[in-house]
Amino acid sequence: MGKQIIVAGAGHGGLAAAALLARRGFQVTVYERNPEGQLGYDWTDIFAPGALKAAGIPMPPREQYSYKENMTFYSTNQAVPLRQHVPEDQLEIKMERHDLYSLLVHNACASGVRFVYECNIEAPILVGNRVIGIKTDKGEFFADLIIDAAGIDSPVRSGLPKMCGIENDPGENGRFYVYRAFYNRASEEMPEERYKVYLFPEEREGMAWVAAEGEYTDVLIGRFAPFDSAEVERHLAFLRKSNPALGTEIVRGGQFVQIPVRQPLAVMVCDGYAAIGDSAFMTVPIIGSGIANAFKAARMLVNTVLNDEDGEFSAEKLWGYQLDFFRHIGSDLAVLTCVKRLLMKIMPQELDYMFEKGILTADEFTIGANTLSLSAFIRIPPVDLIGRVKMLTDDKTLLKKLIPAVFAIGRLKTIAATIPKKWSRQRVILWSRRYLDVFQGNITLMLSV
Ligand SMILES: Cc1cc2nc3c(=O)[nH]c(=O)nc-3n(C[C@H](O)[C@H](O)[C@H](O)COP(=O)(O)OP(=O)(O)OC[C@H]3O[C@@H](n4cnc5c(N)ncnc54)[C@H](O)[C@@H]3O)c2cc1C
Repeated sequence: MGKQIIVAGAGHGGLAAAALLARRGFQVTVYERNPEGQLGYDWTDIFAPGALKAAGIPMPPREQYSYKENMTFYSTNQAVPLRQHVPEDQLEIKMERHDLYSLLVHNACASGVRFVYECNIEAPILVGNRVIGIKTDKGEFFADLIIDAAGIDSPVRSGLPKMCGIENDPGENGRFYVYRAFYNRASEEMPEERYKVYLFPEEREGMAWVAAEGEYTDVLIGRFAPFDSAEVERHLAFLRKSNPALGTEIVRGGQFVQIPVRQPLAVMVCDGYAAIGDSAFMTVPIIGSGIANAFKAARMLVNTVLNDEDGEFSAEKLWGYQLDFFRHIGSDLAVLTCVKRLLMKIMPQELDYMFEKGILTADEFTIGANTLSLSAFIRIPPVDLIGRVKMLTDDKTLLKKLIPAVFAIGRLKTIAATIPKKWSRQRVILWSRRYLDVFQGNITLMLSV
């Protein structure tokens, strides 16, 4: 009989990995708290179609997806809109999350994966440093490897002891708070700009998007701090001023949710355990890429598992997964966290200034399916960015915010590049401290401006 694998939570990356591993003879069981047929949210998602291929998932039927519209970005005063120009061959696709989940579950079942629904995972089960199972409201279950795909608040990751070296929670400033709903369309007329993204709308921190669809208008409001329904209403009133077609009746959705807004876990594996997707903080909020990153990570994890011929699934063997992930995706995500934190510190007028003076251009917002979301920011060489700012501003406060952030990005790139090639407890602990300390240092530096 093949080795036993538990996938904790039916996250995207977990389902993709489950199918690939079951096809290779592993006995894979997914434990999920939601009932069968009720996974995900009532909304659409945007992601790179190539990620499906990378994870061995068939493309959905053509009628289930459309190509994403170019977005137009506005700063607070809305004076200089910046419109993306994503090349056609790099367009992301948009599809219903329920349809995507159906595809993933069907693919997993067809590959031999077993599902246990309505099963609430409570904690990991450990022997020493090794994760050997999960404790749930339906009993205890054991396996040779636990793949943690239970999202931002995974009870498996949260319950790991310190000696595993894995952070238990997203930490301070680690969450992005989001409200999303689809409203009726108050007019038949389709606006010229169908997909608008407002940064610091109405001088409030965070962002909002308004996307005009066929029968409804998709609204997302996101902040770095929690907010309530009264705030949503205030926000909607503001958005309606420049979007008269945005109706008042909620047609779908209407939930408050959270997305990780931090660097990926410094250590995402330990003996018998690997985290994937939001549970390992692989997401770039504002413009989603969590789904594509989770799919790509699934392929990396599966390759590592298949290379582990003895089926030990020790931290040492699983380290190949983390290494691969950091080389291809993780280090860029870590750097982007600096950009996000900088956004938290920049004043609305400063962003207006950067839009108006061309410090930020449409190129920086042109994000294709082949690039990481917001990666355009990291492609600007630090010296160039500082140069752009210096040339264009006497605003010392803005410079004081940008320069440490740019240096922070440089330092993080160096640290990420020095990730140990082989696992040893000492080397990994040392590296993860440097990664987190330097990161923490950067944040402190930026916050102190
Ligand atoms: C409003 C919003 C819009 C988004 N839009 C996009 C987008 O357009 N494109 C994109 O790429 N990303 C988007 N994302 C991010 C994306 O949802 C995630 O990055 C992606 O789903 C990866 O997360 P995951 O699958 O690992 O975790 P999750 O989606 O959180 O899935 C975790 C699973 O584990 C289950 N689970 C959790 N706890 C337990 C428990 N205790 N017991 C049993 N089961 C449990 C959950 O029920 C769930 O099924 C968006 C997120 C939000 C909130």
